[in-house]
Amino acid sequence: MIVVMKNHAEPAQIEAVVQRVEELGYKVHLSRGEARTIIGVIGADEHLIQNSSFEVMDGVERTMRVMQPYKLASRDFSAASTVIDVNGVQIGGPKIVMMAGPCSVESRSMILEVAHAVKEAGGSVLRGGAFKPRSSPYSFQGLGEEGLKHLAEAREQTGLPIITEVMGSEDIGLVGEYTDIFQVGARNTQNYSLLKALGKQSKPVFLKRGISGTVQELLMSAEYILSGGNMKVMVCERGIRTYETATRNTFDINAIPVLKEQSHLPVIGDPAHGTGMWQLVGAVAKAAVAAGADGLMVEVHPDPARAWSDGAQSLTLERFSRLMQELRQVAQAVGRDL
Ligand code: PEP
Ligand code: MN
Repeated sequence: MIVVMKNHAEPAQIEAVVQRVEELGYKVHLSRGEARTIIGVIGADEHLIQNSSFEVMDGVERTMRVMQPYKLASRDFSAASTVIDVNGVQIGGPKIVMMAGPCSVESRSMILEVAHAVKEAGGSVLRGGAFKPRSSPYSFQGLGEEGLKHLAEAREQTGLPIITEVMGSEDIGLVGEYTDIFQVGARNTQNYSLLKALGKQSKPVFLKRGISGTVQELLMSAEYILSGGNMKVMVCERGIRTYETATRNTFDINAIPVLKEQSHLPVIGDPAHGTGMWQLVGAVAKAAVAAGADGLMVEVHPDPARAWSDGAQSLTLERFSRLMQELRQVAQAVGRDL
Protein backbone atom coordinates (compact mmCIF):
# COMPACT_ATOMS: atom_id res chain seq x y z
CA MET A 1 0.00 0.00 0.00
CA ILE A 2 1.06 3.58 -0.60
CA VAL A 3 0.12 6.51 1.61
CA VAL A 4 0.14 9.75 -0.35
CA MET A 5 0.63 12.75 1.91
CA LYS A 6 -0.91 16.15 1.15
CA ASN A 7 1.21 18.78 -0.55
CA HIS A 8 3.60 20.21 2.03
CA ALA A 9 2.45 17.89 4.81
CA GLU A 10 4.20 18.74 8.07
CA PRO A 11 7.18 16.64 9.16
CA ALA A 12 5.29 15.65 12.34
CA GLN A 13 2.36 14.37 10.26
CA ILE A 14 4.71 12.29 8.12
CA GLU A 15 6.42 10.97 11.23
CA ALA A 16 3.07 9.95 12.73
CA VAL A 17 2.19 7.90 9.65
CA VAL A 18 5.65 6.28 9.63
CA GLN A 19 5.22 5.34 13.29
CA ARG A 20 1.79 3.87 12.68
CA VAL A 21 3.12 1.75 9.78
CA GLU A 22 5.96 0.46 11.96
CA GLU A 23 3.62 -0.28 14.87
CA LEU A 24 1.62 -2.49 12.53
CA GLY A 25 4.82 -4.42 11.80
CA TYR A 26 5.52 -3.21 8.27
CA LYS A 27 8.57 -1.62 6.69
CA VAL A 28 8.45 1.97 5.51
CA HIS A 29 9.85 3.36 2.32
CA LEU A 30 9.83 7.15 2.16
CA SER A 31 9.87 8.94 -1.16
CA ARG A 32 10.22 12.67 -0.70
CA GLY A 33 9.23 14.71 -3.73
CA GLU A 34 9.57 18.48 -3.92
CA ALA A 35 6.12 19.12 -2.53
CA ARG A 36 4.77 15.73 -1.70
CA THR A 37 5.92 12.76 0.33
CA ILE A 38 4.82 9.24 -0.53
CA ILE A 39 5.07 6.54 2.11
CA GLY A 40 5.42 2.98 0.87
CA VAL A 41 4.09 0.33 3.25
CA ILE A 42 6.11 -2.80 2.59
CA GLY A 43 5.38 -6.25 3.94
CA ALA A 44 4.23 -9.70 2.95
CA ASP A 45 0.65 -9.31 4.26
CA GLU A 46 0.23 -5.70 3.30
CA HIS A 47 -3.28 -6.46 1.94
CA LEU A 48 -4.45 -7.01 5.53
CA ILE A 49 -4.06 -3.34 6.46
CA GLN A 50 -7.15 -1.19 6.46
CA ASN A 51 -6.74 1.84 4.18
CA SER A 52 -9.16 3.73 6.38
CA SER A 53 -6.87 3.63 9.40
CA PHE A 54 -4.49 5.94 7.52
CA GLU A 55 -6.99 8.06 5.64
CA VAL A 56 -8.22 9.68 8.87
CA MET A 57 -4.72 10.75 9.88
CA ASP A 58 -3.68 14.40 9.61
CA GLY A 59 -1.78 15.31 6.48
CA VAL A 60 -2.83 12.19 4.55
CA GLU A 61 -4.41 12.84 1.17
CA ARG A 62 -5.23 9.24 0.19
CA THR A 63 -4.03 5.68 0.22
CA MET A 64 -3.54 3.44 -2.77
CA ARG A 65 -3.30 -0.29 -3.18
CA VAL A 66 -0.49 -1.37 -5.48
CA MET A 67 -1.94 -4.40 -7.23
CA GLN A 68 1.33 -5.63 -8.68
CA PRO A 69 3.56 -7.82 -6.51
CA TYR A 70 6.37 -5.34 -7.03
CA LYS A 71 5.80 -2.14 -5.08
CA LEU A 72 8.84 0.14 -5.08
CA ALA A 73 9.47 -0.65 -8.75
CA SER A 74 5.90 0.19 -9.65
CA ARG A 75 4.81 3.30 -11.55
CA ASP A 76 2.14 3.73 -8.82
CA PHE A 77 4.92 4.30 -6.32
CA SER A 78 6.45 7.08 -8.39
CA ALA A 79 4.58 8.72 -11.24
CA ALA A 80 7.77 10.60 -12.11
CA SER A 81 10.35 8.59 -14.03
CA THR A 82 13.53 7.90 -12.10
CA VAL A 83 16.65 9.64 -13.35
CA ILE A 84 19.96 8.16 -12.22
CA ASP A 85 23.01 10.41 -12.23
CA VAL A 86 26.28 8.64 -12.96
CA ASN A 87 29.21 11.07 -12.85
CA GLY A 88 27.05 13.69 -14.57
CA VAL A 89 25.43 11.32 -17.10
CA GLN A 90 21.64 11.35 -16.57
CA ILE A 91 20.10 7.95 -17.22
CA GLY A 92 16.32 8.11 -17.63
CA GLY A 93 16.18 11.79 -18.64
CA PRO A 94 15.35 13.30 -22.03
CA LYS A 95 18.69 12.28 -23.54
CA ILE A 96 19.08 8.70 -24.81
CA VAL A 97 22.13 7.25 -23.08
CA MET A 98 24.45 5.18 -25.26
CA MET A 99 26.52 2.56 -23.44
CA ALA A 100 29.03 0.91 -25.73
CA GLY A 101 32.16 -1.16 -25.60
CA PRO A 102 33.46 -4.66 -26.15
CA CYS A 103 31.79 -7.76 -24.76
CA SER A 104 35.05 -8.52 -22.93
CA VAL A 105 38.01 -6.34 -22.06
CA GLU A 106 40.78 -8.15 -23.96
CA SER A 107 43.77 -5.90 -23.35
CA ARG A 108 44.72 -2.42 -22.20
CA SER A 109 45.34 -1.08 -25.70
CA MET A 110 42.09 -2.55 -27.01
CA ILE A 111 39.84 -1.02 -24.32
CA LEU A 112 41.61 2.35 -24.62
CA GLU A 113 41.11 2.35 -28.39
CA VAL A 114 37.42 1.48 -28.03
CA ALA A 115 36.89 4.01 -25.23
CA HIS A 116 38.25 6.89 -27.32
CA ALA A 117 36.16 5.81 -30.33
CA VAL A 118 32.98 5.53 -28.21
CA LYS A 119 33.61 8.96 -26.75
CA GLU A 120 34.29 10.50 -30.15
CA ALA A 121 31.11 8.98 -31.62
CA GLY A 122 29.04 10.51 -28.80
CA GLY A 123 28.65 7.54 -26.45
CA SER A 124 28.13 8.33 -22.75
CA VAL A 125 29.12 5.15 -20.88
CA LEU A 126 31.87 2.60 -21.58
CA ARG A 127 30.99 -1.07 -21.15
CA GLY A 128 33.34 -4.05 -20.96
CA GLY A 129 33.24 -7.39 -19.20
CA ALA A 130 36.08 -8.39 -16.89
CA PHE A 131 34.23 -11.27 -15.21
CA LYS A 132 32.41 -13.12 -17.98
CA PRO A 133 29.48 -15.51 -17.50
CA ARG A 134 30.24 -18.00 -20.30
CA SER A 135 28.09 -20.98 -21.23
CA SER A 136 31.24 -23.13 -21.35
CA PRO A 137 33.86 -23.38 -18.60
CA TYR A 138 36.46 -23.78 -21.39
CA SER A 139 35.67 -20.37 -22.93
CA PHE A 140 37.55 -17.18 -22.01
CA GLN A 141 36.34 -16.14 -18.55
CA GLY A 142 37.54 -12.53 -18.59
CA LEU A 143 40.69 -10.76 -17.40
CA GLY A 144 39.35 -10.27 -13.86
CA GLU A 145 40.90 -7.44 -11.86
CA GLU A 146 43.39 -6.66 -14.61
CA GLY A 147 40.39 -5.91 -16.88
CA LEU A 148 38.87 -3.65 -14.21
CA LYS A 149 42.14 -1.68 -14.02
CA HIS A 150 42.15 -1.18 -17.79
CA LEU A 151 38.54 0.02 -17.63
CA ALA A 152 39.42 2.49 -14.89
CA GLU A 153 42.30 3.82 -16.98
CA ALA A 154 39.94 4.22 -19.95
CA ARG A 155 37.61 6.24 -17.71
CA GLU A 156 40.51 8.40 -16.59
CA GLN A 157 41.51 9.13 -20.19
CA THR A 158 38.03 9.77 -21.59
CA GLY A 159 35.86 10.79 -18.63
CA LEU A 160 33.32 8.11 -19.60
CA PRO A 161 31.74 6.34 -16.62
CA ILE A 162 32.16 2.56 -16.79
CA ILE A 163 29.80 -0.38 -16.44
CA THR A 164 30.95 -3.95 -15.90
CA GLU A 165 29.37 -7.20 -14.76
CA VAL A 166 29.49 -8.55 -11.23
CA MET A 167 28.84 -12.30 -11.15
CA GLY A 168 28.64 -13.03 -7.43
CA SER A 169 28.14 -11.23 -4.12
CA GLU A 170 31.69 -12.11 -3.13
CA ASP A 171 32.97 -9.89 -6.01
CA ILE A 172 30.97 -6.75 -5.13
CA GLY A 173 33.81 -5.28 -3.08
CA LEU A 174 36.44 -5.76 -5.78
CA VAL A 175 34.27 -4.75 -8.75
CA GLY A 176 32.91 -1.80 -6.74
CA GLU A 177 36.41 -0.42 -6.27
CA TYR A 178 36.48 0.28 -10.01
CA THR A 179 33.04 0.36 -11.60
CA ASP A 180 30.51 3.19 -11.71
CA ILE A 181 27.58 0.88 -12.51
CA PHE A 182 27.20 -2.78 -11.57
CA GLN A 183 25.83 -4.93 -14.40
CA VAL A 184 23.82 -8.00 -13.41
CA GLY A 185 23.77 -10.42 -16.34
CA ALA A 186 20.87 -12.44 -17.69
CA ARG A 187 22.12 -15.60 -15.98
CA ASN A 188 22.03 -13.86 -12.60
CA THR A 189 18.74 -11.97 -12.79
CA GLN A 190 17.26 -14.27 -10.15
CA ASN A 191 20.39 -14.66 -8.03
CA TYR A 192 18.62 -13.25 -5.01
CA SER A 193 21.61 -13.22 -2.69
CA LEU A 194 23.50 -11.11 -5.25
CA LEU A 195 20.49 -8.78 -5.66
CA LYS A 196 20.11 -8.38 -1.90
CA ALA A 197 23.80 -7.54 -1.54
CA LEU A 198 23.54 -4.95 -4.35
CA GLY A 199 20.58 -3.43 -2.53
CA LYS A 200 22.81 -2.78 0.46
CA GLN A 201 25.39 -0.72 -1.41
CA SER A 202 24.92 2.62 -3.12
CA LYS A 203 26.22 2.32 -6.70
CA PRO A 204 23.69 2.08 -9.55
CA VAL A 205 22.69 -1.37 -10.78
CA PHE A 206 21.96 -2.31 -14.40
CA LEU A 207 19.70 -5.35 -14.21
CA LYS A 208 19.27 -7.52 -17.29
CA ARG A 209 16.16 -9.54 -17.99
CA GLY A 210 16.64 -13.27 -17.44
CA ILE A 211 17.14 -15.55 -20.44
CA SER A 212 13.62 -16.93 -20.04
CA GLY A 213 12.36 -14.35 -17.59
CA THR A 214 9.05 -12.55 -17.73
CA VAL A 215 8.70 -8.79 -17.33
CA GLN A 216 7.15 -9.39 -13.91
CA GLU A 217 10.09 -11.54 -12.83
CA LEU A 218 12.47 -8.79 -13.97
CA LEU A 219 10.61 -6.20 -11.90
CA MET A 220 10.48 -8.53 -8.90
CA SER A 221 14.26 -8.85 -9.16
CA ALA A 222 14.53 -5.05 -9.29
CA GLU A 223 12.34 -4.99 -6.17
CA TYR A 224 14.95 -7.03 -4.29
CA ILE A 225 17.52 -4.29 -4.89
CA LEU A 226 15.09 -1.43 -4.22
CA SER A 227 13.75 -2.96 -1.01
CA GLY A 228 17.31 -3.22 0.28
CA GLY A 229 17.51 0.57 0.09
CA ASN A 230 19.24 1.16 -3.25
CA MET A 231 16.86 3.10 -5.51
CA LYS A 232 19.38 3.41 -8.37
CA VAL A 233 18.23 0.54 -10.55
CA MET A 234 17.79 0.41 -14.33
CA VAL A 235 16.34 -2.56 -16.19
CA CYS A 236 17.43 -3.97 -19.53
CA GLU A 237 15.63 -5.89 -22.27
CA ARG A 238 18.31 -8.12 -23.82
CA GLY A 239 16.19 -10.65 -25.68
CA ILE A 240 14.59 -13.83 -24.41
CA ARG A 241 14.71 -17.48 -25.41
CA THR A 242 11.83 -18.47 -27.69
CA TYR A 243 11.26 -21.22 -30.26
CA GLU A 244 12.79 -18.94 -32.92
CA THR A 245 16.27 -20.02 -34.01
CA ALA A 246 16.93 -17.48 -36.79
CA THR A 247 18.43 -15.16 -34.18
CA ARG A 248 20.35 -15.81 -30.95
CA ASN A 249 17.49 -14.43 -28.84
CA THR A 250 14.15 -12.80 -29.55
CA PHE A 251 14.29 -9.10 -28.70
CA ASP A 252 10.97 -8.40 -26.99
CA ILE A 253 10.15 -4.92 -28.23
CA ASN A 254 6.87 -5.04 -26.27
CA ALA A 255 8.84 -5.20 -23.04
CA ILE A 256 10.04 -1.61 -23.48
CA PRO A 257 6.66 0.17 -23.43
CA VAL A 258 5.37 -2.39 -20.90
CA LEU A 259 8.26 -1.65 -18.54
CA LYS A 260 7.86 2.11 -19.05
CA GLU A 261 4.18 1.83 -18.21
CA GLN A 262 4.52 -0.49 -15.23
CA SER A 263 7.64 1.02 -13.70
CA HIS A 264 9.37 4.35 -13.12
CA LEU A 265 12.83 2.80 -13.56
CA PRO A 266 14.99 3.67 -16.59
CA VAL A 267 14.72 1.09 -19.38
CA ILE A 268 17.68 0.17 -21.58
CA GLY A 269 17.64 -1.94 -24.75
CA ASP A 270 20.45 -4.34 -25.66
CA PRO A 271 20.10 -5.12 -29.37
CA ALA A 272 23.45 -6.95 -29.49
CA HIS A 273 22.47 -9.82 -27.17
CA GLY A 274 18.89 -9.36 -28.33
CA THR A 275 19.74 -10.45 -31.87
CA GLY A 276 23.22 -12.01 -31.79
CA MET A 277 23.94 -10.57 -35.26
CA TRP A 278 25.64 -7.24 -35.95
CA GLN A 279 23.64 -6.89 -39.17
CA LEU A 280 20.45 -6.60 -37.10
CA VAL A 281 21.76 -4.40 -34.30
CA GLY A 282 21.04 -1.07 -36.04
CA ALA A 283 17.41 -1.86 -36.92
CA VAL A 284 16.60 -3.18 -33.44
CA ALA A 285 18.47 -0.29 -31.77
CA LYS A 286 16.28 2.17 -33.68
CA ALA A 287 13.14 0.21 -32.85
CA ALA A 288 14.06 0.26 -29.15
CA VAL A 289 14.55 4.03 -29.14
CA ALA A 290 11.29 4.51 -31.06
CA ALA A 291 9.53 2.27 -28.50
CA GLY A 292 10.64 4.50 -25.61
CA ALA A 293 13.93 3.08 -24.34
CA ASP A 294 15.95 5.53 -22.22
CA GLY A 295 19.20 4.15 -23.52
CA LEU A 296 20.97 1.38 -25.37
CA MET A 297 23.83 -0.96 -24.64
CA VAL A 298 25.72 -2.09 -27.73
CA GLU A 299 28.84 -4.15 -28.22
CA VAL A 300 31.63 -2.68 -30.31
CA HIS A 301 35.03 -4.13 -31.19
CA PRO A 302 37.94 -2.87 -33.31
CA ASP A 303 38.08 -6.22 -35.11
CA PRO A 304 34.93 -8.28 -34.44
CA ALA A 305 36.21 -11.28 -36.40
CA ARG A 306 38.95 -11.67 -33.80
CA ALA A 307 36.86 -10.91 -30.71
CA TRP A 308 37.29 -13.28 -27.77
CA SER A 309 33.53 -13.23 -27.12
CA ASP A 310 30.39 -12.13 -28.98
CA GLY A 311 32.20 -11.01 -32.16
CA ALA A 312 29.21 -11.92 -34.34
CA GLN A 313 27.04 -9.28 -32.64
CA SER A 314 29.70 -6.58 -32.28
CA LEU A 315 29.79 -3.44 -34.40
CA THR A 316 33.07 -2.12 -35.73
CA LEU A 317 34.04 1.32 -34.47
CA GLU A 318 33.03 2.84 -37.83
CA ARG A 319 29.64 1.11 -37.83
CA PHE A 320 29.00 2.31 -34.28
CA SER A 321 29.76 5.87 -35.27
CA ARG A 322 27.37 5.62 -38.23
CA LEU A 323 24.66 4.11 -36.03
CA MET A 324 24.97 7.08 -33.68
CA GLN A 325 24.19 9.44 -36.57
CA GLU A 326 21.16 7.42 -37.64
CA LEU A 327 19.85 7.04 -34.10
CA ARG A 328 19.91 10.77 -33.54
CA GLN A 329 17.15 11.21 -36.11
CA VAL A 330 15.02 8.47 -34.53
CA ALA A 331 15.53 9.99 -31.09
CA GLN A 332 14.42 13.41 -32.33
CA ALA A 333 11.38 11.90 -34.03
CA VAL A 334 10.15 10.66 -30.64
CA GLY A 335 10.99 13.88 -28.82
CA ARG A 336 14.29 12.75 -27.34
CA ASP A 337 17.86 13.78 -27.84
CA LEU A 338 20.97 11.68 -28.28
C1 PEP B 1 27.14 -9.17 -21.75
O1 PEP B 1 26.61 -8.06 -21.55
O2 PEP B 1 28.22 -9.33 -22.33
C2 PEP B 1 26.38 -10.38 -21.32
C3 PEP B 1 27.00 -11.47 -20.91
O3 PEP B 1 25.04 -10.20 -21.42
P1 PEP B 1 23.83 -11.14 -20.96
O4 PEP B 1 23.94 -11.29 -19.49
O5 PEP B 1 22.63 -10.36 -21.40
O6 PEP B 1 23.96 -12.46 -21.69
MN1 MN C 1 28.43 -10.06 -24.64
